[in-house]
This record gives sequence, C-alpha cells and structure tokens, in this order.
Amino acid sequence: MSCFMLPECILELITNTMRRYLWSGRANARGWAHVAWNKGGDKQIIFSAVHDDNSPNQVRCKEFMRSDGKSWDVDKVKQVFSETDANAILGCPICPIQGDLQVWGHHPTGVHNVKFGYRWIVSNRGMEGDHSSIWKTIVSMATLPKIKVFAWRLCFEALPLGRKLAAVGINPGICKMCQGPVETGLHAFRECPSIKEAFDLSNLSICLPAGEFTDCKAWLESVQLNMNQEQFTFFMTLLWNLWNRRNKWIHDGQLIPQRIVVDYAQLLSADLLNAQETSRASNPSASQERWARPLQDRIKINVDGAFNPTSRKVAVGVIARNSHGMMVDG
Ligand SMILES: [Zn+2]
Repeated sequence: MSCFMLPECILELITNTMRRYLWSGRANARGWAHVAWNKGGDKQIIFSAVHDDNSPNQVRCKEFMRSDGKSWDVDKVKQVFSETDANAILGCPICPIQGDLQVWGHHPTGVHNVKFGYRWIVSNRGMEGDHSSIWKTIVSMATLPKIKVFAWRLCFEALPLGRKLAAVGINPGICKMCQGPVETGLHAFRECPSIKEAFDLSNLSICLPAGEFTDCKAWLESVQLNMNQEQFTFFMTLLWNLWNRRNKWIHDGQLIPQRIVVDYAQLLSADLLNAQETSRASNPSASQERWARPLQDRIKINVDGAFNPTSRKVAVGVIARNSHGMMVDG
C-alpha cells in the first residue's frame, strides 16, 4: 500500500464536498436524506378486484356490449356476473370512446403519479397520522426557519450524529465531545457532560424532565410540557447553538465556551421575539387572521393575485385544500 501527502487545499475541498453531501437540502441535488420514506405505515394498498391481462383468452368490456357499442348486453352480463356485480356494471354509463382505458380515479387527468398516490394513502390514513403536539409547538416557535428545521430533524433523529455516521461506516460513532458512548440524539443534547453547564447557566435545568426516554421526540414532548412557548423556543435555540458548537469543535478544532453559547442563544431569542412583536404591532390584523381548515368533505380554495402596472403583467395563484389541510390541487 502506498501513502501520499496531499496539499491542504485538496483536503479542504474533500471535507467541504463531504459536508455538502451530508447537509444537502437543495432540490434536485444529490445528498443524504437521513429520514426514511414514509411508506404509509403498515397498511397495504389492496385492490378490490384483479383482472389477469395475461390470460390467453382475454375478455374485453366491449364483449359485454351490444354490437353498436352504445349499451350493455344485459342478458350476457347477468349470465356471467353475480347479481351485485352485474347491477354495478349495468349502472356504469358507456362513454363514447374506443377501446378500454386504465384510469386513476384520484387525479383529475386520470393518470396515476407517485405524488397523488402518496397523497391518497395519507388522506386515507385519516386520523391515524402523527398528531403529536410537538409539531404544532415547533411550527409556532417565533424563531428562524432553520431552527425549526433543526428541531424537526432532531425529533426524527435525522442529524448526522455519530451513530448515524457509524451505520454507514463514516466514523466509529462515539461522541467526540466527551469521548464517551455512542453519540445518539439523546446523548448529544441531553446526556453529554460537555453541555451540562449550558443548561445550568440558562436556568433551564429545573424544567428538564428526569427519567428514561426512548428517543429525542419522546424527550422533547416531555420537555414542552414543562415549558411555555417562549421558554421552549429559547430551549430549541440553545440546542441549535450547542449543535453549531459541537460542529465547530469537530470540524475546526475550536471549542466555544458554553457561557458564550448561552449568551448568544439569549440574544438571538430576544431579537426574534422583539421582531415578532414589532411586526404584530405594526400590522395587528395580520396576526389575527389565520387560515382554518374546511369542514369534513369540503374543499377550501384560496386565491391571490398581483398586477405589475409597469410590465402590465398579471399573476394569479390558486390553492385548494381538503378538511385535513392537505393540498388537493393548485
Ligand atoms: Zn458526549
């Protein structure tokens, strides 16, 4: 085996490429998603009837129609099918089209695609989805979008922590902050001795629940019960800053004192809170108007438009959502 000395700039380029891959969030970019596809729980899509199209004696719909193709051959349909099926078939109007056609009934065009197939599965799951209050708490945080995304990823254990990296053979998996056990989400943000001081300095220690938790989401659900919205927002801002501190240490060898991290989190939270209150004061009607989901079996359509008098161009946006708040079309 041969060993080669590489210039520092090449090493930096390799490191940056690895970081971009691990953190890629851009559309159409190669990257590591960290979160598995939601396969729709343990439910299976079961089609109520299957027609074997590979049969040597294929039977077509037209064989149950009269020769002019405009009506069903009632006697033949009743002779072949059960009474229930025959009534269902005879109840179908015959469209003036040539040949049989496969139609996906859950899209206006009749063509199946993955997006609408997934949406159909999710809407069928109805109230079986994850309705934990943690999601509402995270969405309602008056903070930067990237901190909300960080909180979401933390709940899903979707951060590139030691255990995750070890699973794909990138590193041994131990916590590099304390050289201790395997770096899970719970260890990095709750149990690691390297962050204990930050919780004490920020007076959050008394709000943190004791006991065992299976994962980060269970822990954060318990944390939010002990805090109001403002405290929880600050708590997540602190975790995000501790995460940046950890990365700075691992990638740049620079260890930021916990006191500075806590001060920065407090400043950032105060600034964002002030900005939100200023915005609310300058536009009180905007904070009162909130979108509400339509009633069961109803569709709500929201429309907005804009006109540019200089270019004389018009833009219109339309979005239709169902009673689950999911987009139907737009
Ligand atoms: Zn540790």
